[in-house]
Amino acid sequence: SIPLGFFGGIGGASRHGVLIKGSNYLEALNYVDTVIFDKTGTLTKGVFKVTQMNTVEDISKEQLLEYAAYAESYSNHPIALSIQKAYGREIDKEQLEEYEEIAGHGIKVRLNDKMIYAGNAKLMEKEAIAYDKTDFLGTVVHIGINGTYAGNIIISDEVKEDSAKAMKELKEIGMKKLVMLTGDSKSVGEKIGRQLGLDEVHAELLPDQKVEQLEAIYKQKAGKGKLIFVGDGINDAPVLARADIGVAMGGLGSDAAIEAADVVLMTDEPSKLISAIKIAKKTHTIVW
Ligand code: ADP
Ligand code: MG
Repeated sequence: SIPLGFFGGIGGASRHGVLIKGSNYLEALNYVDTVIFDKTGTLTKGVFKVTQMNTVEDISKEQLLEYAAYAESYSNHPIALSIQKAYGREIDKEQLEEYEEIAGHGIKVRLNDKMIYAGNAKLMEKEAIAYDKTDFLGTVVHIGINGTYAGNIIISDEVKEDSAKAMKELKEIGMKKLVMLTGDSKSVGEKIGRQLGLDEVHAELLPDQKVEQLEAIYKQKAGKGKLIFVGDGINDAPVLARADIGVAMGGLGSDAAIEAADVVLMTDEPSKLISAIKIAKKTHTIVW
């Protein structure tokens, strides 16, 4: 039978905006010593703004943004939403065909007689499009048209106000290791890692490489302490499932992520993890 104290703990957590899907997860929260975060939408707001556009000759900024907005029109990735917003005009989807969203890379779509590619350096390399390698301040979305480079759009995301405080407190309550995994570039990842005082940052990861990285961390730990992964679910459902405790953001997160997660943070604030761990510790002393 399940000790009654657990129900009190789960109820208490829900009053703090933390949904815990079972007494086994509440119990497991007592033994956590490693927390791994996704970046976009988890530690950062996931709300990007276009801050710069760089075009090659013959293409205007308006034209570049239009190509990008058409390419991104079916996606609900935070990057796509920012480009749709910056464009702000109606998209005639009848002109689009052969739409493909490639996880960790970007978009490939046919717009009338042109193939449009909108994504990161990996996508450009995959399509053999020579691209601008400048180390821009922000996330770079490269645009290619029919195998030729058209320019790039720089977008910036901000760290959540809550994140820095949450990282500090997680250390204070005894977490040994705080890690960030991201599909974004090394320069963006490392900048945020320094800003938040994280122990490790692993960047430019595809969704299955995030799982491999998680496995590597499990190996280093050699069975000591539990591991949490916290994500917003866009491209990270496999890691959410593999962690001892998968934690999803309830507001921004996708339905699939909320479904796959063991714990849901209803307000999207990383600091809610601290409430959850504290409640788990209290419940532990009441139950045992
Ligand atoms: P994160 O790990 O930061 O949450 P994702 O795995 O969702 O990021 O995406 C990794 C990278 O793939 C992004 O930083 C971006 O470069 C590229 N990417 C993914 N989806 C898109 C898209 N719809 N448009 C452009 N680029 C994209
Ligand atoms: Mg993500």
